[in-house]
Amino acid sequence: MEICQQLVCQCNNKIYKSIATLKAHQKTQGHVLWENTREQKDQLIKINRLENENNQLRRLNILLIERINVLENK
Ligand SMILES: [Zn+2]
Repeated sequence: MEICQQLVCQCNNKIYKSIATLKAHQKTQGHVLWENTREQKDQLIKINRLENENNQLRRLNILLIERINVLENK
């Protein structure tokens, strides 16, 4: 069953009879395009995550500066 799963390409969910035919398919434009699109999506997700983290850190930074100011003014 594991071998069967390996011979299914995620881009089209097609089952390939051998590793050779699967590898041949993975060199086709359609598959390469799909892989590039997937990588771009992954990168966009990573960028979004980093932007969120960055915004959180900025907010935390502002909060900490405010608290320091309050402490210094006491
Ligand atoms: Zn494919």
